[in-house]
Amino acid sequence: MLESLGPVLVKYPEFTEAKIIERICEPERQLIFRVPWQDDRGVVHINRGFRVQFNSALGPYKGGLRFHPSVYLGIIKFLGFEQIFKNSLTGLPIGGAKGGSDFDPKGKSDSEVMRFCQSFMLELWRIIGEHTDVPAGDIGVGGREIGFLFGQYKRLTNKFEAGVLTGKGLVYGGSQVRTEATGYGCTYFVNEMLASKKNGFKGKKVLVSGSGNVAIYTLEKVHQLGGKVVAMSDSNGVIHDEKGINLETIKQLKEVERRRIKEYCDSHKSARYIPNGNIWDIPCDVAFPSATENEITGKDAKKLVKNGCIAVGEGANMPTTPEGVHVFIQAGILYGPGKAANAGGVATSGLEMQQNASREAWGFEETDIKLQQIMRNVYVLCSEAAEEFGAPGNFVVGANIAGFIKVARAMIAHGIV
Ligand code: GLU
Repeated sequence: MLESLGPVLVKYPEFTEAKIIERICEPERQLIFRVPWQDDRGVVHINRGFRVQFNSALGPYKGGLRFHPSVYLGIIKFLGFEQIFKNSLTGLPIGGAKGGSDFDPKGKSDSEVMRFCQSFMLELWRIIGEHTDVPAGDIGVGGREIGFLFGQYKRLTNKFEAGVLTGKGLVYGGSQVRTEATGYGCTYFVNEMLASKKNGFKGKKVLVSGSGNVAIYTLEKVHQLGGKVVAMSDSNGVIHDEKGINLETIKQLKEVERRRIKEYCDSHKSARYIPNGNIWDIPCDVAFPSATENEITGKDAKKLVKNGCIAVGEGANMPTTPEGVHVFIQAGILYGPGKAANAGGVATSGLEMQQNASREAWGFEETDIKLQQIMRNVYVLCSEAAEEFGAPGNFVVGANIAGFIKVARAMIAHGIV
């Protein structure tokens, strides 16, 4: 991020004078708390909860909650820092934050997840609110968890404050397209990059790592646009089927039954399962890393480029290591970094907040069109900033600069706070 900003600081000396870099790197507030809960057998467990309120120059703090055993303060801080600039790129009035816990939802019953969420909210409610901080989902936090968190917040505050969380169910204030938004948005972003080269998804062979919310709706949109997803994965292994991955089977396995991806091969005989496999070894035209951070190393990136990959859209946050990013940029392929390519999720959260504030509920198509417009704008912003600052076609530089300038201007306007 900082490497990209050199030319911006030269052009705007007032940013250096106001110590914007030093201020932006320091979160405005960080909360770490104990989350005690009891499992179904009555055994007591203790997890650690986090909320890092990084920057509120553009609007209320906004960003997801991640429940995963790997979570610690450093992960939440890097995600919160990314979120500031991603949210800025959406053009919506939202600041940057992130939170979560080292709780592992895998293998837990619905009642255990509910008790955990209730205990988590018993602490978190003090520092959130529709005008203050609006959490949503991330890895391990989906519709079920947001429902439990919302129920507890409502009970504690005695207020139906719909705008306090996003990613809610459609029957109690959620937005159409929020479930699909990150995957759809990432596909729209890559489609914009391809269109700039007079290309498109028709006939393209596509890899989508992961099989969570982002991966599933990337698969759906890629197929709608005429591409073919030939492989997906989970933390145990990879499924590969040159005939294309079936959306309905994946949805049933992952969204309904919460099972492992290996079981896909039971009902699809043309598919092969590669235990602990590396999805990036499979030749493709387009890659969507949509699992987690650091999943594409320098070596993986080289393999992708060598195998003919022409575009990468990051559905996950920072899935490519710095070495991998370097390989993509040097090779001159179309590379959409997460803070731009996956901004559709939080953007649609912003649309959910708009609907909650006006007590409206828009239709699916209407909301999807707004998402498409936002992704086109994000693409144009990145592309123009890259051009203006001497790195045409480099969306890493473009996204970092375009996201940063808006936040820096707002911080200057607010004085030394
Ligand atoms: N966790 C998502 C992200 O990384 C969405 C956050 C939100 O909707 O607030 O952008």
